[in-house]
Amino acid sequence: MTATTENSAISPSATGAAETHSAAAGTAQAGLAAAEHIALDEQWSTHNYHPLPVVIAEAQGAWVTDVHGRRYLDLLAGYSALNFGHRHPDLVAAAVEQLGRVTLTSRAFHHDQLGLFCRELAELTETELVLPMNSGAEAVESAVKVARKWAYQVKGVPDGRAEIIVAGSNFHGRTTTIVSFSTDPTARADFGPFTPGFVVVDYGSAQAVAEAITEHTAAVLVEPIQGEAGVVVPPAGYLAELRRICDDNGVLLIADEIQSGLARTGELLASSADGVRADLYTLGKALGGGIVPVSAVVGRREVLGVLRPGEHGSTFGGNPLACAVGRAVIRLLATGEYQQRSRELGAHLHRRLGELVGHGVSAVRGRGLWAGVEIAPEGPAGRAATAALLERGVLCKETQDTTLRIAPPLVITESELDEGVDAVGEVLSR
Ligand SMILES: *Cc1c(COP(=O)(O)O)cnc(C)c1O
Repeated sequence: MTATTENSAISPSATGAAETHSAAAGTAQAGLAAAEHIALDEQWSTHNYHPLPVVIAEAQGAWVTDVHGRRYLDLLAGYSALNFGHRHPDLVAAAVEQLGRVTLTSRAFHHDQLGLFCRELAELTETELVLPMNSGAEAVESAVKVARKWAYQVKGVPDGRAEIIVAGSNFHGRTTTIVSFSTDPTARADFGPFTPGFVVVDYGSAQAVAEAITEHTAAVLVEPIQGEAGVVVPPAGYLAELRRICDDNGVLLIADEIQSGLARTGELLASSADGVRADLYTLGKALGGGIVPVSAVVGRREVLGVLRPGEHGSTFGGNPLACAVGRAVIRLLATGEYQQRSRELGAHLHRRLGELVGHGVSAVRGRGLWAGVEIAPEGPAGRAATAALLERGVLCKETQDTTLRIAPPLVITESELDEGVDAVGEVLSR
């Protein structure tokens, strides 16, 4: 056992979470015991999540500490918002420095971080224009608006007729327009009426996209790897084939790289594994370094250039603090170090997880430091597995009930990764 303390929960001898919590309740540093925080959440926050029973008070790198001082290894990394780990010193320094200068101006005025952020992000992603927003859903919404406007103004689609082709089992966010093209009944039920103009085809089938294209098609919007769906990797050549179909039909290709991008798969952008350049990319999550929400649409000038003053905006989008943190993220990515870590540690992760197939695991998918571990039918339900991992001091979240999504911070060490995989093996092979 490395990197653990007396308080570490990574120990087969760790007692059940409830016992430990009540025993330590009187000494909780934040004053309230975990159970009390959980009760507050239950009473006062809307129940749109079902969190595991751990109350985090501090974090550093790949580790978090709960209100009772127990440490846990983070194998979720904020759904890839924490690619650089918790509180990466360069990112915290950039935020602190900017907090001492100016945090918000609104876009009514220029500030000294926006242009630099946009230039640096465009250079990093080899694109021409940047539209800064905050959440990932806002970036996707913005890409949808831009694609529609491009269709009317540049392609000549008759007003109100633009269509966007999306993939089944997609996840692009939670706004009413975005859930309009979700195929997840839970994400949609009772939220209609829905925004029209979207055509859903099977993920992984370029032929289905080709057949769905009409003269009114503005864009094809896909995740290069579907994260929420269970880290689903499409067949090799899928994105390249989509690129060719889009080119042949004068249709935009939009890659939602909010979860797959920014080094998660071992490349800056997951689409480049297929040698593909999209017309627009949506970025988010890790772009804010786990400190502030920062998202963006980046892409071709001919497309993003259709927006004129007043047609789109955001009070917080592109604010000085977001830009300063985003610039520090870009500096980390520009070294290539994190992409390389993801490739090397990812190869190790997939080798180790591959050994579990047949031992409680039916399949492992993914690329780089990102894996969907399919729990064997006789194994525990996803929620029971993540609860058992929590008791062993490992944070992880199921997706689609039967898949464990493993996406550690890219700063994790090989031995820490091994501890995590060992715990997964123990829990699933029981
Ligand atoms: C998380 C995610 C989003 C939505 O991002 P939010 O910041 O939660 O709005 C969109 N697309 C993909 C692929 C995502 O993983």
